[in-house]
Amino acid sequence: MTESKENASQKEVKVFKDLFETIIHPGLCCSCGACVAYCESQGFNVIKMDGYTPKYKSPDTVDNCTKCGLCYFICPQTDTILDKINEDYKIEDELGHIEDIFAAKTTEKAIAEAGQDGGIVTTILSYLFDKNKIDAAIVSQYDADLNTVPMIVYEKEDLLKASGTRYSISSQILPLKDLYNISLEIIEKKGIFDIEQLRLAFVGTPCQTRAIGKMRFLHIKPAHVVKYCISLFCFENFDYDKLYEIIKDETKIDAENIKKTWIKKNFFLKDNKDQEYEIPIKKLDPAVRNHCHTCDEFTGRFSDVSVGASGAPSGYSMIITRNKMGHKLITSLLSQGLIEQYIIHADQTKEWKEKRIARLKRMVKLKTKKN
Ligand SMILES: Cc1cc2nc3c(=O)[nH]c(=O)nc-3n(C[C@H](O)[C@H](O)[C@H](O)COP(=O)(O)OP(=O)(O)OC[C@H]3O[C@@H](n4cnc5c(N)ncnc54)[C@H](O)[C@@H]3O)c2cc1C
Ligand code: SF4
Ligand code: SF4
Ligand code: SF4
Repeated sequence: MTESKENASQKEVKVFKDLFETIIHPGLCCSCGACVAYCESQGFNVIKMDGYTPKYKSPDTVDNCTKCGLCYFICPQTDTILDKINEDYKIEDELGHIEDIFAAKTTEKAIAEAGQDGGIVTTILSYLFDKNKIDAAIVSQYDADLNTVPMIVYEKEDLLKASGTRYSISSQILPLKDLYNISLEIIEKKGIFDIEQLRLAFVGTPCQTRAIGKMRFLHIKPAHVVKYCISLFCFENFDYDKLYEIIKDETKIDAENIKKTWIKKNFFLKDNKDQEYEIPIKKLDPAVRNHCHTCDEFTGRFSDVSVGASGAPSGYSMIITRNKMGHKLITSLLSQGLIEQYIIHADQTKEWKEKRIARLKRMVKLKTKKN
């Protein structure tokens, strides 16, 4: 290669500096943690997550950057390789590929009580543990200060406390940065001899599952351990402090006294005395995270299964299966009676599904129009 050609090709590789200038600094970062998880799992020692913001660890680590460019490639907010993964995931329109769509709810009482809608996500994970199809799952939980944080759980028993929706960012991909530091005790307990054999289910918002989709497409570590990718529907997400400040202003309820929150046109909450409150959704606009204003996703196109509430009868979840594997998974849950489908008269099934698809498309339109 001549020197000028070499310089030109080096210039084309976008690195963390570019990610910072084009995505992070303008407020478009969705804090998924993919860039840090990749870089750290390779031991490059360049960047870290500072709260919800990826940054150089210190001025001394800037030169450690190998200029591999993968942080820029896998970031869900850059459009690199999107055309290729669209093809890979057979994306036909704004909803992505739909193998099937229907409503269902869990048949397990404890999950029904703890779950957000139909308890489908927790039932899927519980089944995968039971059938020894996964060794771990990445879910989200509250920490001691009630911040939403990602968590790798290794036991089915730990799933229930992660059930339900937390309407603030949880950097779901970040725990993968420590993949190669998972304790020997856990590895032995799981009966695996090499961390590369770990099988994991991932739960996240559509932007996060897009990053996983990019990583899976590129076959890059540490996402190679993700065997199942479940996307939650997501219209918008909130800045934790701003959200709870507005809630406190509107209802006088402190975060620690909130039992459950949900969105159904407006924002609802139940306090620990089971008293319900409603806040007009518009009032929460100042708390919406900046990156959500440019988001064109709603159902999570780059997943194996998407789950949400929109379009589902009360107490049920809508499920979209995205590929054969995702479809087989849900069919197994149905056939084993772990979830039950919302029954529609056979004559009306086609129309029912078409109406749901039209509704979800309207949600995407509404979202992009709002943007
Ligand atoms: C920020 C956000 C916005 C949403 N907006 C909509 C919407 O507009 N319309 C709609 O139909 N559905 C929306 N959902 C999805 C919906 O709230 C439920 O998560 C979904 O219906 C699954 O319900 P379930 O009862 O099957 O899940 P459950 O069995 O209760 O399991 C929920 C799973 O989601 C995980 N989780 C919870 N909070 C987060 C988080 N912040 N980040 C990553 N994982 C998390 C939990 O750890 C758990 O594994 C949203 C979810 C989130 C996180
Ligand atoms: S080493 Fe690679 S992944 Fe890490 S910051 Fe540099 S370009 Fe990004
Ligand atoms: S990869 Fe995720 S955390 Fe990193 S800059 Fe992009 S959106 Fe932010
Ligand atoms: S609205 Fe879009 S960018 Fe915001 S959290 Fe949901 S999927 Fe991510």
